[in-house]
Amino acid sequence: MSSYEFELRPKELLRLLFFKKICPDCMNKLVKKNDKTLLESGWYNMSGTYYYGNKYHLKLLYYCKNCSKEIQLHELRYRKFFNNW
Ligand SMILES: [Zn+2]
Repeated sequence: MSSYEFELRPKELLRLLFFKKICPDCMNKLVKKNDKTLLESGWYNMSGTYYYGNKYHLKLLYYCKNCSKEIQLHELRYRKFFNNW
């Protein structure tokens, strides 16, 4: 069994929901690119229960093919519904 731990601050969650996934530099559509780091392998404890497997730390990232650049959530610049700011 594998489990994933997310690192998402409230501000980033808002950006995930309300911001367009486009490149802040070239306006190209971004591709989701999740960054997975292995935290623990073997037995691990999650909410009082022990599991066997791999535990990952997952970071939500986007990638612009045009600029060959990784874009983090806090770098998104354009809102989905209002563009006048
Ligand atoms: Zn770009």
